[in-house]
Amino acid sequence: MRCYSCAKLSLSILCKHCKETLFKTQTGTRTIGTLDVISFYKYSTIESLLLTKHKPEGYRIYKALATMLLKPFAAEFAENADSEVYIIGVDEYVKSGYAHVALLTHAMKTEKTTPLHASLMAQNRVNYSGKNLQFRLANPRNFKYTGKKNIDAILVDDIITTGITLQEAQKVLMQHGVNVLFALTLADVEES
Ligand SMILES: [Zn+2]
Repeated sequence: MRCYSCAKLSLSILCKHCKETLFKTQTGTRTIGTLDVISFYKYSTIESLLLTKHKPEGYRIYKALATMLLKPFAAEFAENADSEVYIIGVDEYVKSGYAHVALLTHAMKTEKTTPLHASLMAQNRVNYSGKNLQFRLANPRNFKYTGKKNIDAILVDDIITTGITLQEAQKVLMQHGVNVLFALTLADVEES
């Protein structure tokens, strides 16, 4: 097959060179209210890869990104954790045959970290893309949480734009006694 990123012949969806190049990108933290959000990339760096979500090739690309980034992150986190921590994906909704966020959280399963799949679902999926903060605030996701209560958790999504969605998710989880340690996303749309 060909590497999705550079189109050179490759054994996997992302070639060795692109994986190494992508690995170099710096991880950053952005604070939204009381929530720290760690992102692996600036959105523009991996935009072409993230735009594959809901397309057939997106399944392999999100899986490759999860294995490359989230799996080692969870392994390192688990090494230093003294008690069990849960992994909660933001709206693991199946579209075009798979839930892209579930591919990310699935890779984070370790002896100390347990994904609670599809436990935090949006009841409103109005399209946010290209919409401003006012629109997003006026059309909340209305998350419903059905997972375990009174736990520590890491919140996971693929992209952070305004941070409104993550903040709304944190608020709902807190109402169920879930202590969100921090959030983790692949990419941050904010460039500064
Ligand atoms: Zn490549």
